[in-house]
Amino acid sequence: MAQIVKASCDCGFEGSATVGGTMASFKERSGFPYQCKDCKDLVTVNIASVDRTCPECGGENILSYHRPPREDATEDEISDEEFTQANDLARGVWLRLCWSENPCPACGKNTLKFRRGIRFC
Ligand SMILES: [Zn+2]
Ligand SMILES: [Zn+2]
Repeated sequence: MAQIVKASCDCGFEGSATVGGTMASFKERSGFPYQCKDCKDLVTVNIASVDRTCPECGGENILSYHRPPREDATEDEISDEEFTQANDLARGVWLRLCWSENPCPACGKNTLKFRRGIRFC
């Protein structure tokens, strides 16, 4: 299951990215949002590949939006957090995309919010 997520920030930045992959091809192509520091943009990086680069400029100056739970968070706090996740098959971990307080690629503040867009299989 893949879904499009929309991002927006108070500074006016808007973008979208894909989380996950489709049934037919998730082993070759599965997305997760990253910020490219060179493009100053939100991009979808193919996490089915071990080599991860920006799809726009081909550079490696990219930062994942994956945010693991705080180590001291209680189970209630973790289940209260709003996030969606994607299976990072290449590395055998789950990646979490939290909806709020993400770093904005345009202004650099932790005010980028994601919201659910369309889902496809
Ligand atoms: Zn780039
Ligand atoms: Zn911003």
